[in-house]
Amino acid sequence: MSKTSKVERAKVYKDHRVQLFLSKFVSGELSELTPVYDPKYGYKYPVVEAIVGEVSITEEFLRRLFEVGVLKRKLYDKIVYCPHCNSANVSVHYCCPHCKSFDIRKSSLIEHVPCGYIDTEEHFQIKGKLTCPRCHKELTKPDVNYRKAGVWCTCNECDKSFDIPVSSHFCRECHQIFRFEESIYKDAYSYSLNQNVMQETGLGLFLIAPIREFLQGRGFEVESPGFIKGKSGASHMFDIRVSRRDGSRNITVIDLAATTDGVVSEQPVIAMFAKVFDVNPYRACLIAVPKMCESGKKLAALYKIKLIEAKDQKGALKALKALIG
Ligand SMILES: [Zn+2]
Ligand SMILES: [Zn+2]
Ligand SMILES: [Zn+2]
Repeated sequence: MSKTSKVERAKVYKDHRVQLFLSKFVSGELSELTPVYDPKYGYKYPVVEAIVGEVSITEEFLRRLFEVGVLKRKLYDKIVYCPHCNSANVSVHYCCPHCKSFDIRKSSLIEHVPCGYIDTEEHFQIKGKLTCPRCHKELTKPDVNYRKAGVWCTCNECDKSFDIPVSSHFCRECHQIFRFEESIYKDAYSYSLNQNVMQETGLGLFLIAPIREFLQGRGFEVESPGFIKGKSGASHMFDIRVSRRDGSRNITVIDLAATTDGVVSEQPVIAMFAKVFDVNPYRACLIAVPKMCESGKKLAALYKIKLIEAKDQKGALKALKALIG
């Protein structure tokens, strides 16, 4: 993973839709996202559509997550679309290579092993039995005294025979015929979560969505990320900005600091203090997952930053409830 994509990933993690989507993997609701076939549109991802709200941006949403390394993908299927109307409701026509008609008969070639005679199956069909037209012996044991020697096609239009037909496509929606060269030929993927995502984000990322829902349910205005302009004129970003709908200036800012190392360092406390000093919100809260180091605790008390330590979603929400009241 390059450093650039790490920066890019940090950006996409801020997207509320990404958080909702990834939390489905984390909760175990989803282990692999596989496309669902729709005869008209080809493959769709209903789970993602429900989150992003629009079919047209679903693919772009998934491609972005793949490109920055959040998701892994696996080729699931290939799909042919009509170049005239974009429908995936397309059938394959196997055609005569001579006159291009799709009105062809498919049969098998049979070889009578003892005498070496080869012909199409219909020539061996005599009075409901398979009989050799050359030596008139009955064919009884497949793979012993006779065998299938391949496919043989005959064109009903021009009467010519051939072994390999050429393919073309028929659009069942607009009824146009088109060749592979003209078709829109696309990949369909299944997606799963890259393992590094959990390490990179800890639990922090997956707290934003439930916290937001919890606060909104209590009548608060919630923005994530939330921006506030400070006395210095600089704009500061907090993971969550909470305000009252009545427009009063009682703004609460919340930052999340998560680690997989066991203890969060004092660094996020210092970083938050620099912003809080400039912005002067009603209340500042730092959620440390799972625990804050001792010096971080002392600094938070000194800077009047409410510290919440939580092992999981439930713990964080419970503490937040007590804080907000
Ligand atoms: Zn033909
Ligand atoms: Zn024979
Ligand atoms: Zn079409």
